[in-house]
Amino acid sequence: MQFETIPHPSPTDDAARDAAIADPGFGTVFTDHMVTIDYDEAKGGWHSASLGPREPIALDPAASVLHYAQEIFEGMKAYRMADGSMALFRPEENARRFNASARRMAMPELPEELFLEAVRKVVAKDADWFPSVEGGSLYIRPFMFATEAFLGVRPAKQYKFLVILSAAGNYFKSGAPAVSIWQSEYTRAAPGGTGAAKTGGNYAASLVPTGEAFARGHDQVLFLDAVEKKWVEELGGMNLFFVMRDGRVITPPLTGTILPGITRESLIALLGEEGRDVREEPYSIDQWRADAASGDLVEVMACGTAAVVTPVGKVDSADGEFVIGNGGPGELTSKIREKLVGIQRGSVEDTHGWVKRVG
Ligand SMILES: *Cc1c(COP(=O)(O)O)cnc(C)c1O
Repeated sequence: MQFETIPHPSPTDDAARDAAIADPGFGTVFTDHMVTIDYDEAKGGWHSASLGPREPIALDPAASVLHYAQEIFEGMKAYRMADGSMALFRPEENARRFNASARRMAMPELPEELFLEAVRKVVAKDADWFPSVEGGSLYIRPFMFATEAFLGVRPAKQYKFLVILSAAGNYFKSGAPAVSIWQSEYTRAAPGGTGAAKTGGNYAASLVPTGEAFARGHDQVLFLDAVEKKWVEELGGMNLFFVMRDGRVITPPLTGTILPGITRESLIALLGEEGRDVREEPYSIDQWRADAASGDLVEVMACGTAAVVTPVGKVDSADGEFVIGNGGPGELTSKIREKLVGIQRGSVEDTHGWVKRVG
């Protein structure tokens, strides 16, 4: 597909941009450009791809996303390599997962190559927005939503796909060495629901429990399964790994109610290479509490693109709180984080072919 390039009438001046990317935090500093591609069943599918200025989009008030939440997204990052070039980490996995989410939400799939081309184009265009802060990255947000003006309940026939970018520094405001989490009584996803799709509705449902977590001074919310309220699933936007004293590492299995994280899958591979016995098996909150008390559990890591690999130091719930290990970052968590970050930034050899240069 040909991309039309639309010039920006008034790009951000260099001084303002450089000030914005010096310490961008997460999710508030946006770059100048975006990609849009439209879908219309009546026009034979995807059409009108463009790379142009980032600007508001006009929507009909009856656009079905505004009523029935037909929306999906991805989250990925462009990293600065040791040689100064930029690279993406396993972007084909994001393209594939985007389409898996699309199928679950009755939305059209986007050819994987088109998804990747859209991402590469806007990243190359706004490379100057790469944050100057240590550990910074360009956070990439591809997303799609239903634009058709129609209030009946059925899959829409018109959609919009966009890619926007945000300069990103640290994800957690606290900057604490380990995060503390709040075990919510709310659930995130039920069997047969949309838990494995990266769709806005899952996040809407997590806002009240996340608000509770913040109000109690925690960094993230922990969800248990919706049926037995017993099995650990994941955090609001991160998967979990439990490191046992005997060397085993446990992560909850992909049963359709948790998001299949690409960081999760990468960690399973890296931990295996470290000689760890990694098991995708259910782990209960009671076991977690007991293993933390006995010392059989030595570390817990949370992982995802936004927060990379983050140690979990403390869990709080209606039943009281408990601490994992010494409450700080553990040895394996730090080692695996360094290895992953090293691969992403080109200082550790990429034996899996995970890293894709841009430009
Ligand atoms: C995106 C996401 C993750 C992490 O996935 P990555 O591919 O590792 O970034 C985990 N849980 C939820 C609910 C998510 O939306």
